[in-house]
Amino acid sequence: MDIEKIRSDFPILERKVYGRPLIYLDNTATSQTPRRVVDEVVSMYYNAKANVHRGVHTLSQEATEAQEATREMIRAWIGAESVEEVIFTRGTTEAINLAASSYGQLMENGDEIILTVMEHHSNIVPWQLLGMRKRIMLRVVPINKVGELDLEAYRSLFNDRTRLVAVCHVSNVLGTVNPIKEMVAEAHSRGVPVLVDGAQAVPHMRVDMRDLDADFYAFSAHKMYGPTGVGILYGKKHLLKMMPPYQGGGEMIDHVSFEGTTFADLPYKFEAGTPDYVDIAAFRRAIEYIQGVGMDDIAAHEEDLLRYATERMLAEIPGIEIYGMAPYKSAVISFNIPGAHHYDVGMLLDKQGVAVRTGHHCAQPLMHALGIEGCVRASFAVYNTLAEVDAFITALSRAAAMLT
Ligand code: PLP
Repeated sequence: MDIEKIRSDFPILERKVYGRPLIYLDNTATSQTPRRVVDEVVSMYYNAKANVHRGVHTLSQEATEAQEATREMIRAWIGAESVEEVIFTRGTTEAINLAASSYGQLMENGDEIILTVMEHHSNIVPWQLLGMRKRIMLRVVPINKVGELDLEAYRSLFNDRTRLVAVCHVSNVLGTVNPIKEMVAEAHSRGVPVLVDGAQAVPHMRVDMRDLDADFYAFSAHKMYGPTGVGILYGKKHLLKMMPPYQGGGEMIDHVSFEGTTFADLPYKFEAGTPDYVDIAAFRRAIEYIQGVGMDDIAAHEEDLLRYATERMLAEIPGIEIYGMAPYKSAVISFNIPGAHHYDVGMLLDKQGVAVRTGHHCAQPLMHALGIEGCVRASFAVYNTLAEVDAFITALSRAAAMLT
């Protein structure tokens, strides 16, 4: 992997912050965007800005083709059987809200959903909102000391009212890669479908729906070198067919009259209104980018960064506490330094050009389970280097010395 070439594809990495070279370690929140994705956005605005699926004119057809080319590319990339199973949303959050709102209508008072304690708020609150409309009970899988799900507890939470499992593939705080295939098999053996929040998996590892056998899988483009405002809900066709529409409006109908409306076929049934077709077109370039570098190489590189950074942090920052030490873990390091507030650590790192995230990371129930209010999180992407890890450790040591 030619890391210098990769870095040169991301213009933002030339930026300075407080006069220091930017070291961007907030990739879990959003990753940076290579030139070819931005170029595609510009090209769409300059050459093919016309509403999709509605026009016979050339521009509209080109915009439609660009959007549908992305859909087909994603279908192939995640191993979906058909483009009917690939729904465009605004992101992971909207994808899960769509599932909760629509699939949730098929649930009944007294039904239960199994979640885990490590979920992002976007895989908790939509189910709670559903619970405000129907009496739905949420059952929560706990974690062990290293941040892995307690699979024994998971198995024990099923009963004859369990209607869904909703679980993240990779924790955005702990980095734990959950054994999704095994969890899906367990749920399916009891006839229960599984929704997977893949926001933190898809940028870092190969995911294949044929292998995982998940019933729903949600992710966001902006976390995988793509544009903002686009996400995907993959859903198995037989489930999507059973589900009522999520929102009403243009694009999602077959025929409308005041007496009643019939709906469009999949996937359009779930895509009301003008989609973000410009960014959807650009999303394809992000996948091409990942494919060009190679997902296996990206994963191996990030694994090196994770191992190196973890070892140095444990060795050189006295008393540091790292949350999540699962053997199978993605390149995310959440931590606290005793006596130093996470917010102050983040501020002092920023002053040295290092961008990390601080706070609860949209995972307050997990913070509660860990017995903390918040923490600092450094997370890596393909363009980060070992030299950046060195600079990060130097900056962190300085911050720790000042604060403790
Ligand atoms: N799920 C996980 C695990 C995440 O890390 C995030 C974002 O950080 C989300 C869901 C929400 O993604 P988005 O804000 O793109 O909808």
